[in-house]
Amino acid sequence: MSSPAYAELVARLQRTHLLATVSDLLGWDEQVNLPPASAEHRARQLTLLAELGHAAGSEARLGELLGELEAGASGQTPDERAVVRQARRDYDRVTKLPADFVREKAALTSHAYHAWAAARAKSDFASYVPFLEKHLVLAKREAAYLGRSAAPYDYYIDQNDPGLTAGVIGGLFDELKRGLVPFVRAILASPVKPPAGVLRGFPVEGQRVFLREVTERLGFDYQRGRLDVALHPFCSGTAADTRMTTRFNVDEPLDALFSSIHETGHGLYEQGLSPALGGTALGMHAGMAVHESQSRLWENQVARGRAFWRNFEPRFREIFPTQTAGVTADQLYLAINAVVPTLIRVDADEVTYNLHIILRFELEKKLFAGELAVRDLPEAWRAASCELLGLEPANDAEGVLQDVHWSGGAFGYFPSYCLGNMMAAQLWYAALAALPGLEDDFARGDFSRLLGWLRTHVHAEGRRHDLLALVRKVTGEPLSPHALMRYLRERYGTLYRV
Ligand code: ZN
Repeated sequence: MSSPAYAELVARLQRTHLLATVSDLLGWDEQVNLPPASAEHRARQLTLLAELGHAAGSEARLGELLGELEAGASGQTPDERAVVRQARRDYDRVTKLPADFVREKAALTSHAYHAWAAARAKSDFASYVPFLEKHLVLAKREAAYLGRSAAPYDYYIDQNDPGLTAGVIGGLFDELKRGLVPFVRAILASPVKPPAGVLRGFPVEGQRVFLREVTERLGFDYQRGRLDVALHPFCSGTAADTRMTTRFNVDEPLDALFSSIHETGHGLYEQGLSPALGGTALGMHAGMAVHESQSRLWENQVARGRAFWRNFEPRFREIFPTQTAGVTADQLYLAINAVVPTLIRVDADEVTYNLHIILRFELEKKLFAGELAVRDLPEAWRAASCELLGLEPANDAEGVLQDVHWSGGAFGYFPSYCLGNMMAAQLWYAALAALPGLEDDFARGDFSRLLGWLRTHVHAEGRRHDLLALVRKVTGEPLSPHALMRYLRERYGTLYRV
C-alpha cells in the first residue's frame, strides 16, 4: 500500500504532465494547421502554458513531498523509488535555475535561431559566432546551477540520456569509427552502384494510401493517433493521443515512406507507454537514445529488409503500376538501401549517418573542454568532414551551419541518434534469437510478435532503467557498436559484395 505522500506526489506529477500534453498538442497544431495570421495568438497561448507548467512543476509542496519520501525510501518498492528519483531530477531542474537565467536563455534561443537562419541563408558563420559563444557560456552556467560545473558536457548528455557520459560515448564512438570508416570506403569502391532517379512521379494520393497501410500493419493504433502533413516529420503527444507528421515529394517516394516508418517507431513506443502512469518514471520513455532505437529499428532493420519487401512490394507495384514498370526488384531494393555519402546529415543513409554524429560529438566535446574556439569551428568541421566522410563542404551552409540544434542551446543531443542505432541493432539480434522465424512473419505481413516483444521488454519498462542498464537487461550485453557493425556488414556487405 502506497503512502499518502506517494499518492499525492503521483497525482501532482500527472496533473503537470497533463498540462504539458496540452502544450504539445498546441505545438503540433502550430506545425500542421495554424492559419498564417494566428501565430501571435498561439505564441501567447504557449507562453501562458509554459508559465503554468513551470508553476506546477516548482510548487513548494512538491519539494516537501520529495523530502518526506526520500527520508522514507527504505519502505518503498523499487518502482516507487524510481518515480521519486525521476521526480527529484525534474524538480531540481525546474527549481535550481534562477528565473533571470531562464529568461536570458529563452531570449538568447529566440535571437540565436533567427541569427542562425540568416547566417545559413548567406553561408556567413561569422555573424552567428557571438550567439553560439553566448550559448556556450550559458550552458556552462546552467550546468553549474545543477552542481555539474566540473563536467558541463556530461550534464547535457545526461539530460538526454540519463546516466551517460562523454567518456563512455567517446569509447563507443572510437570503436565504431575504426570499423565504419574502412567499411564505407569499401562500399564506395564496390562495382555495385545504387540506381539514381528510377523512382519518379509518384502521386501523393497513392503514397498516402501506401504508407497508411504500412504503418497500420506495423501496429500503429489510428484510434488514438494521427499522421498528418507538416514541413518537417516529427512525432509528439502521448500514449493516449500520438501525433505524427510526414511530407511528400512526388519524385522521392521513399522519403515520405521511410520518414513515416521512422516516426511510427517513435509512435509505437509512445503508444506502448502506460497512459495511467503518464508523468511518472513508470510511464515515461527512457531517454532520447532509447526513443531513437525504436524509430531506427522499424525504419532500418525491419523496413529496409528483404522480408518486409517480400510482403509489401506487390502492393507497392499495384498502387504504382506505371511508375514501377521498368524497375526490377533488385533495383528497388538497392534504391531502398542506397549508400551515398552526403554533406548533409538529414539526407544521409543509415551507414554513413553515424559518421555525421561522430563528427558533431567530437566537436562538441572540444568546445566544452575549451580545446576549440567557436570561431574556429568551420575549419575544424571541414577537416573532420574530409577525414570521416571524404567530402569537403564548399561553404558553411553545407558544413557547420546545417543543423538547428546548437542555435537552441541543445548540446549533447546528437550522440543519441548514433547510440540509438547501436541499441536498435542489439535489440534486433536479441529479438531474432528470442523469436524464431521472425522474418518469415514479416514476409507474411505480420509484425505483431516483434511489437509484442518490444512492448514487454522496452515499452513497459518506462524509465525504470537508464540506457546502459536497459540494454544490458534486455540483451544480456553491454551497450556496444558490435551488433551495429555486424548488422551493417550482413545487410550492406552482402548487397555491395564487400
Ligand atoms: Zn527520430
